[in-house]
Amino acid sequence: MNSAATNQNERHLTEKLSTSGFRFTPQRRCVYDVLMHKRDHPTADEVFMRAKRAMPEISHATVYNCLDALVKSGLARQVSLERGATRFCPNMEEHCHYYCDACGEVFDVMMPADTASMPRPKGFKVDHYDIAVHGVCAECAAKPKK
Ligand SMILES: [Zn+2]
Ligand SMILES: [Zn+2]
Repeated sequence: MNSAATNQNERHLTEKLSTSGFRFTPQRRCVYDVLMHKRDHPTADEVFMRAKRAMPEISHATVYNCLDALVKSGLARQVSLERGATRFCPNMEEHCHYYCDACGEVFDVMMPADTASMPRPKGFKVDHYDIAVHGVCAECAAKPKK
């Protein structure tokens, strides 16, 4: 990433944090970078492991606190599978999650722009979509069955 993009990212982060009453801290920056760097919907533990590489002194509690601040500031969202730990996703655009039940991978797929045509109960006012689709990813589908 070039330094102009880094600065813009940092300004975005600072603004979003401060409107929700959070301070910009190097730890929050680090945790946000971890989420942005590899968008594979890591769990808090996975974020902790990755953050430690950049910031060896960061604690588990700090990472949890940072994730909480990012979620409350609208910089990341929590994604819950019916089983397993909460995962984190920095993609704040309307999207669906496709879960591979074989390998556990989560894919982001943008919602169609025309969500008005989505079926919904009569008179229902949609705030946001939280759609999870289960199945088997291309890689797992190609593997010979055991
Ligand atoms: Zn996502
Ligand atoms: Zn898979």
